Amino acid sequence: MTTMLIKNVKAIVTLDNTDRVLENQNIFIRDSRIEYMGLESPVASEVIDASGMIVYPGLINTHHHLYQTFTRNLPQVQNLELFPWLCTLYEIWRGLTPEIIYHSSIVGMGELMKYGCTTCFDHHYVFPRTNSEQFIDQQFMAADQLGIRFHASRGSMSRGRSSGGLPPDDLVQTVDEILKDSERLVDQYHDDSRYSMRQVVLAPCSPFSVTGDLMKETAALARGKKVRLHTHLAETRDEEEYCLQKFNLRPLAYMESLDWIGADVWFAHGIHFNEQELQLLAATKTGVAHCPVSNQKLSSGIAQIPRMLELGVPVGLAVDGSASNDGSNLLGEIRTAFLLHRLNSSAKAPTGYDILKMATRGSAEILGREDIGSLEVGKAADLFLIHVNTLEYVGAQFDPKSLPGTVGVARPAAYTIVNGKVVVKDGKLCTIDEERVTAQANALVNKLLT
Ligand code: ZN
Repeated sequence: MTTMLIKNVKAIVTLDNTDRVLENQNIFIRDSRIEYMGLESPVASEVIDASGMIVYPGLINTHHHLYQTFTRNLPQVQNLELFPWLCTLYEIWRGLTPEIIYHSSIVGMGELMKYGCTTCFDHHYVFPRTNSEQFIDQQFMAADQLGIRFHASRGSMSRGRSSGGLPPDDLVQTVDEILKDSERLVDQYHDDSRYSMRQVVLAPCSPFSVTGDLMKETAALARGKKVRLHTHLAETRDEEEYCLQKFNLRPLAYMESLDWIGADVWFAHGIHFNEQELQLLAATKTGVAHCPVSNQKLSSGIAQIPRMLELGVPVGLAVDGSASNDGSNLLGEIRTAFLLHRLNSSAKAPTGYDILKMATRGSAEILGREDIGSLEVGKAADLFLIHVNTLEYVGAQFDPKSLPGTVGVARPAAYTIVNGKVVVKDGKLCTIDEERVTAQANALVNKLLT
């Protein structure tokens, strides 16, 4: 049994149902959970003096492609939109190996943790013909080593170029291969208990890389196993045209025809929905992972987040893959989201606090977690602390709830704590040797790209 006291916290932004901010109070943690918040100082084996610090609930990332941390900032794709961008990158991603998956997962999740993220969902869908059987197992190993809460997905592609899809034929698998491995991973890793560190989601890639059969069978398998479903949807006009041409349906209607709608489903992006479709998402509690940096980088469009929030569509925040971001900083994503919607929607835009809520409670909801996303007694001890007694925050401390959105937090967290354990201290990862891992990862990147 371990105990931790975080004392003298300048402001605890709880994100609870009444939006409380507790000033000059303490948090007491026992093992994985928050046991007490208030003025008392219970005796603890570990004590953190948080004078001059603000504490926030750990951020939750709802869409990523961690392998893409190795293919960032590549000149040949910088001014391409999604379809040509993908077609160029597939040629490089064909070279993925288990070692690359492991190290790129360490790099991407490591960066997320340094900037306050405590739970990461990843969407891995590229499985080259050889040597890809253990890719998701490698990701779980990386997450374990880092100490982050990890929701992996068994992504998939089954519609190659010869069947009218976008990916090359040698990067797609058969429906049988995909379902068999999906079942193996759910049986081996999925844990739905409270404070679970490992979950599995089933996630065929997109309408233009997957067959309808696979979508339907995946939905049936997921519902039988009680795991969630995820895919890319309504990301670009190209995708919409593809669906209209191939299936004579708009993307969401196509999903509905395949049983892909409901509170156990969330879509990445959700930019090109019309009003009727937004109402259907709200009525069915189908979620959306909002990825504002990626949407700007790929010129995909602006998701109608103000309207989604108004209607009650569950919305979480995400960085998306690093080839379209080109980083893994969810704290930075909060400010980008805030500014993007200010520009686009003026008075109807979400506040800084609304965006923070999206990255915590909103994300927890679409991942199906009730034990994370806010700081309350009985919730998981997932949180991060930032120092605000520094020059950068002079004059900016009157509203700690909105600060990450309006002012922005440009430095790594003073502490990130996951499941009651310190994983980042003074902006550095505690669970791995950052310098060594950086050198190893760079060597692998050079091998992949040259
Ligand atoms: Zn994506």
